[in-house]
Amino acid sequence: METIECDIVILGSGIAGLTTAIHSSNESNRQLRISIVTKLHAMRSHSVAAEGGVSGVLYPEVSGDSIDLHAYDTVKGSDFLADQDAVEILAKNAPEEIRFLDHLGVAWSRDEKGRILQRPFGGMSQPRTAFAQDKTGFFIMRALYDEISSHKNVSIFHEHFAYSLIIERGRFSGLVCMDLASGESRFIKAKVCVIATGGASRVYGFTTTSHSTTGDGIALAYRAGIPLKDMEFVQFHPTALVPNGILITEAARGEGAYLLNSKGKRFMEDYAKSKMELAPRDIVSRAIITEIEQGRGFTHTESGLKYVHLDLRHLGKKIIDDHLPMIKEISIKSIAIDPVDEPLPVRPAAHFTMGGINTDIHGRAVADENGNVVKGVWAIGECGCVSVHGSNRLGSNSLSQCAVWGRLVGKQIAAYASSEGFNKGEAEKLAETERDRLEELASRESGEDPYKIKEEMQEAMDEYLYVYRNRVGMTRAKDKIEQLKARFSNVYVKDKSRSFNTNLRDVLEIGNLLDIAEAIAIGAMHRKETRGAHAVVEYPKRNDKDWLKHTLIFKNRGKIGLAYIPVKITKWKPVERVY
Ligand SMILES: Cc1cc2nc3c(=O)[nH]c(=O)nc-3n(C[C@H](O)[C@H](O)[C@H](O)COP(=O)(O)OP(=O)(O)OC[C@H]3O[C@@H](n4cnc5c(N)ncnc54)[C@H](O)[C@@H]3O)c2cc1C
Repeated sequence: METIECDIVILGSGIAGLTTAIHSSNESNRQLRISIVTKLHAMRSHSVAAEGGVSGVLYPEVSGDSIDLHAYDTVKGSDFLADQDAVEILAKNAPEEIRFLDHLGVAWSRDEKGRILQRPFGGMSQPRTAFAQDKTGFFIMRALYDEISSHKNVSIFHEHFAYSLIIERGRFSGLVCMDLASGESRFIKAKVCVIATGGASRVYGFTTTSHSTTGDGIALAYRAGIPLKDMEFVQFHPTALVPNGILITEAARGEGAYLLNSKGKRFMEDYAKSKMELAPRDIVSRAIITEIEQGRGFTHTESGLKYVHLDLRHLGKKIIDDHLPMIKEISIKSIAIDPVDEPLPVRPAAHFTMGGINTDIHGRAVADENGNVVKGVWAIGECGCVSVHGSNRLGSNSLSQCAVWGRLVGKQIAAYASSEGFNKGEAEKLAETERDRLEELASRESGEDPYKIKEEMQEAMDEYLYVYRNRVGMTRAKDKIEQLKARFSNVYVKDKSRSFNTNLRDVLEIGNLLDIAEAIAIGAMHRKETRGAHAVVEYPKRNDKDWLKHTLIFKNRGKIGLAYIPVKITKWKPVERVY
């Protein structure tokens, strides 16, 4: 098997991965050898789909906004589960990162004075979401990709699928991946690995995320013994288009769109009188499901999905064309409804993974509840849990998180890779064993249909671990996932070709999704309270006395363990969350 040696390997080329690559490269005066490994072409990373914008206080002297207010909104939005020291870093550094992106050439929407426009977003008490129409992720990715392409010390391994993380004696040794074009495995030997593989919302069937968001890096870390944090908290975005789940950005409500039930009522006044449609997502999603369950929704004829209306008509064609052109195009092309003329059918869909790989405030992977780090491993972006989102992320805080920790981690890893050597051990041998396992999987003559397993997993997750959860449902989901995992051990890859074997790739992704589904179900079953995105029918209230703590779930020699660690509170004592 070919070995590629470098100083730093960055697994993932979304906004988190590319930002880290730029800063680590700059920090070393473009001297360190940096590899970016990505299962897609870099520019197809899920970040290109980000629509609404990126948060940060840009013009406090004009708006009256403040860093502290951004931090407090985030903490309150998180239902007080976010680590407040991390949130303070996010709010403080986000403006600098938006300006950095400006210097790289992001085509922000601007006002007549040339200032970057900022719009209101859910749970934010000021308009502080900078945007480039409703294609913010695409414009940011294009600027980052242009920039990294000029760094000659950085190699991008497009369409390379990582399937094993090699850690020996608590320290990173290398990464095993498959070149999808040839089907050959490669061992990437490096001193540092930054996991930036994005979220895992594809554990659900009804989701706003791309087919590639299969939580691979989270599952690799979990299997390598690194704990996952707060996996029970999955964000359901309130306004996914029915029946396909495509996101209608929160920016639509930021621009003033209404949510209406089948009686034509703006029902959010019964749930969050002061914020209305711009309450945080957990609250809006619960409100929509409550309306539907109480018979005030609509039913989609072909799919049977229930929904409410998102009405943009009063915004007028100009605002829609200038600020929301993509959602207009998507609605017309995919369901033949023009939001200028008719309300859109929407319901909540899985959207964001609040939990993820357990890290400290620096983004370093942490091996246990005592804070011992896994040397040489960092995790950032949606796959890492630092934790700035707690139990409910505020929209537009993810892109700022990717950018802020991209710089912080980039600087740290440049220093680490300049002073540390490679791990000594048997990594090449271990990589070959991993490769042999993959080859055995690919060569099986018969077995279980992976797509059937995936379908059953998604059905269980959609049914039992959606916006509202109950004890019986969560137990059923856990049992079902256990059965599916047993079946998966005998899974069959029908396609025997080497080049672009998407069947084999799918099987690897489904294996990862099953691990994630297991972590979500177990974390959820144990948390006996309602907090943020985890709403439990039997425990309808937040319970700070027993549950103001982060869940850690880990695998130790095949056995699953749970532990809890405290939430870091700096300035803001938890209070009742009213909007
Ligand atoms: C439709 C939509 C719109 C959104 N809009 C916004 C918004 O406006 N503002 C906001 O703040 N947030 C938004 N979010 C959330 C935000 O887009 C994501 O959280 C963020 O882009 C994640 O970036 P990332 O760099 O962590 O990962 P991603 O952009 O998901 O990138 C993951 C990378 O990892 C690579 N990868 C994964 N697995 C493997 C593997 N096994 N081997 C090799 N490579 C691998 C992929 O190829 C990819 O390059 C939105 C989410 C959705 C679904």
